[in-house]
Amino acid sequence: MKKYDICIIGGGAAGLCAAASLHSGMAGCILEKNEIPGRKIMATGGGRCNITNAACAHKDMALEFFKSIGLETYHDAEGRYYPYSNQAADVAKALVRRIEKKDVSIMAGIEAVKAEYHEETFVVFCKDGRQIHASSLLLATGGKAAPQFGTTGDGYRFAKAFGHRINKVYPILTGLVCGCFADIKGVRAKGRASLYRDGLLLAAETGEIQFTADGVSGICVMNLTPYIVSENGEPLERALKRYHLELDLAPDFTDEELSGRESSFGILPDKLSRRVSMAEIKAWKLPVQGVKGWKDAQCTAGGVCLDEIDLRTMESRLQEGLYFAGELIDRQGPCGGFNLQNAWETGLKAAAAASRKVRERK
Ligand SMILES: Cc1cc2nc3c(=O)[nH]c(=O)nc-3n(C[C@H](O)[C@H](O)[C@H](O)COP(=O)(O)OP(=O)(O)OC[C@H]3O[C@@H](n4cnc5c(N)ncnc54)[C@H](O)[C@@H]3O)c2cc1C
Repeated sequence: MKKYDICIIGGGAAGLCAAASLHSGMAGCILEKNEIPGRKIMATGGGRCNITNAACAHKDMALEFFKSIGLETYHDAEGRYYPYSNQAADVAKALVRRIEKKDVSIMAGIEAVKAEYHEETFVVFCKDGRQIHASSLLLATGGKAAPQFGTTGDGYRFAKAFGHRINKVYPILTGLVCGCFADIKGVRAKGRASLYRDGLLLAAETGEIQFTADGVSGICVMNLTPYIVSENGEPLERALKRYHLELDLAPDFTDEELSGRESSFGILPDKLSRRVSMAEIKAWKLPVQGVKGWKDAQCTAGGVCLDEIDLRTMESRLQEGLYFAGELIDRQGPCGGFNLQNAWETGLKAAAAASRKVRERK
């Protein structure tokens, strides 16, 4: 039975980046349950893939890596980095092409169901009956956000089996349910979204607000969702009653500049102006009735507890040879490239550490 140096479960951002950066001489395999690796990468950044952000402390680590595999990038005025071609699919392709030059097989369409450790060997059991043997194991299965891309939370089960604690997971970077907006569904407007709890301002962000059939979305709204939590066992439905959203749909105008205007039409798109009066334009109060679920979420809050991972190498403190990377761990950031940065950074660290260890053993 072939024994790999490393088995990577999950061919997403973290897993592909790790595989593409394994040192030469490493024999590895990636198990990816989708037929195509990197499916979520292809959907990121509205199809453009916001790779990282100027505000990320270790962005150069990711940018240098992408340059080394031939993928050029650029950034916009807000510090968001994208592939030079503006094609998210090219990011996945660049990673896969680099992996193909290595001694690493991508096993697409193969789902891992269980992982165990016996006699210095990780054994991964797959749904189709095959067993993979490896000296080290990297869990890069992502979290639970956007399960339509294969991320159904399987990694938490694998991590638990090795004794790891999982901090409570919930969907973030998603839209809010605020009532019936069928008449303005699809309308977009520049605005400032402020989130309040018990009447106190928690956070606010300016950007494009998008109206959906039952609420609001857009990056500035999505970035407020990590602040909506139920504490001390309070049911979420009850906790939600404490929150409300306030939209300033004329952020570039002062009250003085707006005084005397009869209608919000001319500032707001026609459809929206029929719904929002001048009295509301600077402070449209909306109840928070719900946070959209996993399907609409761009990220998972919570995950594998960081205390039990050496963050310099991403190796488990409980099981030697076991590594973690990506959204599976309890680390998340706002929209703008921060979550992919986490995937690249942890994938690169895990691959470097696993490569070093295997070389030492050989
Ligand atoms: C629509 C959308 C847009 C986004 N846009 C951005 C953006 O522009 N910038 C940004 O920073 N972040 C963005 N994100 C977040 C970002 O995509 C994720 O944080 C990132 O992909 C996480 O990387 P990962 O490798 O941990 O997980 P993923 O990229 O989700 O990959 C995990 C992989 O593991 C596979 N897998 C899971 N379980 C198993 C199993 N049992 N066996 C085999 N394979 C398995 C899955 O099929 C999946 O392919 C976006 C998210 C979404 C949903």
